[in-house]
Amino acid sequence: MIQLYQPLNFMGMVYREIKQAIIDIEKMFAVLSRKPEVEDRAGAKPLAVEAGTVRFEDVKFAYDPARPILKGLNFEVPAGKTVAIVGPSGAGKSTISRLLFRLYDVSGGRILIDGQDIRSVTQTSLRAAIGMVPQDTVLFNDTIRYNIRYGRWDATDAEVEEAAKTAQIDAFIKASPKGYDTEVGERGLKLSGGEKQRVAIARTVLKAPPILVLDEATSALDSHTEHEIQGALERVAQNRTSLVIAHRLSTIVGADEIIVLDQGRIAERGTHSQLLAAGGLYASMWNRQREAEEARERLALIGDDD
Ligand code: ATP
Repeated sequence: MIQLYQPLNFMGMVYREIKQAIIDIEKMFAVLSRKPEVEDRAGAKPLAVEAGTVRFEDVKFAYDPARPILKGLNFEVPAGKTVAIVGPSGAGKSTISRLLFRLYDVSGGRILIDGQDIRSVTQTSLRAAIGMVPQDTVLFNDTIRYNIRYGRWDATDAEVEEAAKTAQIDAFIKASPKGYDTEVGERGLKLSGGEKQRVAIARTVLKAPPILVLDEATSALDSHTEHEIQGALERVAQNRTSLVIAHRLSTIVGADEIIVLDQGRIAERGTHSQLLAAGGLYASMWNRQREAEEARERLALIGDDD
């Protein structure tokens, strides 16, 4: 019986591997056949990053011409500083990060990095200069080591582990029996939204780009996870030009400037304490989030009493 079982088991494994490979190839063709939204201009030059200053000049954008999303934005992220974008859902915050990464071209105005219009440089050089930590990180059906090394293929195992430590995900990985060789995804380790985001942070640490764009996950995180991500981000944002699209105001209290976006326009701007003192939209968002957090904590305490 065992003699029969082993080859059958092996054939089953081969079948599953082939099926997965076919699914991966189908996904790849679906991506490749999509018409690119942006193309390199003839004679586009590589981006020359010096200090890493990002400027939005009267930036306008619409996915659908009938419905403008950004209606003339002006702001600068000075080299090495952190600017946070906050605002109600649908205000256009994530759109700003997509435009900087040039997934779409602006409909009006321009975006400059160290004085160069991002439409005049090659997309490869632009994307090499920006570390993007998206809301939802795509992970490959491979080991966790492979998934982190994606940030820089020539990184050594020691560098991969160092990056994971900075992203505060190293202890979690080591708790798994196969450690860094654990398979991720359907066949292995399942990662939560917060853990995936820390893998993305580890990739960015390896990539070490001059500019960092973080699009915070919308999903509510427990306060321990939030604290860990916060620590990881502070380390990776140090001395980098950072644009943070924030959904939880508690994570951006220390930003050099906070921009409050409302219906595609800048409604308020300033530091956390300036905006609180102004008593406007930011202050009311802050108070609402604090009340929601306190209510959650009270519920958790009641749960502990049971
Ligand atoms: P949230 O806080 O909910 O993430 P946001 O401020 O980041 O919201 P965006 O994701 O920038 O908002 O979206 C702004 C508006 O653009 C929304 O009304 C959204 O429905 C619309 N939108 C976003 N992506 C697309 C798209 N690919 N095509 C058409 N409309 C889109």
